[in-house]
Amino acid sequence: MIVVMKNGASDEQIRGVVDRVRELGLKPHVIMGTERTVVAAIGNKRDEHRQSLESCPGVAEIIPILAPYKVASLEVRPERTVVRVGPLVLGNSHVGVIAGPCSVENEEQTLATARAVKVSGAAALRGGAFKPRTSPYSFQGLKEDGLKILAAARDETDLPVVTEVITPSDVEIVAKYADVLQIGARNMQNYRLLEEAGQAGKPVLLKRGPAASAEELLLAAEYVLNAGNHEVILCERGIRTFETHTRFTLSLATVVWLHERTHLPVIVDPSHGTGHSVLVGRMAAAAVAAGADGLIIEVHPTPERAMSDGYQSLTFQQFGEMMALCRRIADAVGRTIEPAWQSRSNPAAAV
Ligand code: PEP
Ligand code: MN
Repeated sequence: MIVVMKNGASDEQIRGVVDRVRELGLKPHVIMGTERTVVAAIGNKRDEHRQSLESCPGVAEIIPILAPYKVASLEVRPERTVVRVGPLVLGNSHVGVIAGPCSVENEEQTLATARAVKVSGAAALRGGAFKPRTSPYSFQGLKEDGLKILAAARDETDLPVVTEVITPSDVEIVAKYADVLQIGARNMQNYRLLEEAGQAGKPVLLKRGPAASAEELLLAAEYVLNAGNHEVILCERGIRTFETHTRFTLSLATVVWLHERTHLPVIVDPSHGTGHSVLVGRMAAAAVAAGADGLIIEVHPTPERAMSDGYQSLTFQQFGEMMALCRRIADAVGRTIEPAWQSRSNPAAAV
């Protein structure tokens, strides 16, 4: 249930409610909005404690949370969560673009890609150092060496780094180098990994599993949120259907469906979602039109030589063209796709 505090409730009153929620065996989440502060009380036995919380000083009303996902729900937080990582802004009228190779292969490839995507307007660099591959015989990633290359690319370009963590025991090492932890589609329901990543103190980009419903994606996000991390980015990256002309079926309706139910930013991955570079640019534009808060795009200096996912990776030129198209669409729907570089030197100007 949600405990809505009165306008102007004091910090002490909020603390009082938080303590009472804990005493009742429920988990408190304080959400400070511009209009009101609410304390979400999460747990199995809810309604029996309603009266006890209603009588706490400073409480305006108690509202039950109907959705099975609680902290992720718009019912708990009607204001949109905007995730900001340096120039990367995801949410509200901002479309943040994360771009880079599927896998970090070497320093030259990663640095060249980072420079090129920055010039075209990307706000963050992606690249896998730990790769979850369908076949155990495929390239598994450079691991910590790959993380070091990503950090070097960040040092040179100032682009924050988004990279995948595939197992709970690697969270610490990945979080040491990454600015955003990516949890891949295959791991969406790896609950121990979600909890561990939720405690790392970095935003988490959570990709939808190819066989997971959108509601299951929200419930997976709930694990990260419950670990105390409110910066969760949801990613639609295509699901398995009977269709074979694309690698997955990119469900853009899910972006709209999610926005109706959650305050979390939703981004789209048209690279994995289509599996063909020729489809990526226009599906990226369609995602912007559908209201996506960001895009994650695979880009490679020479896609035909890529060690993974080359057939869906854009060349530097194709990425530039994609960005130009997305900018036109963003303009048309009243949104901006420019990285927020000014926010680093002048936080007051942060968007
Ligand atoms: C990736 O981003 O390269 C990746 C492996 O994505 P997904 O988890 O969506 O398959
Ligand atoms: Mn990939």
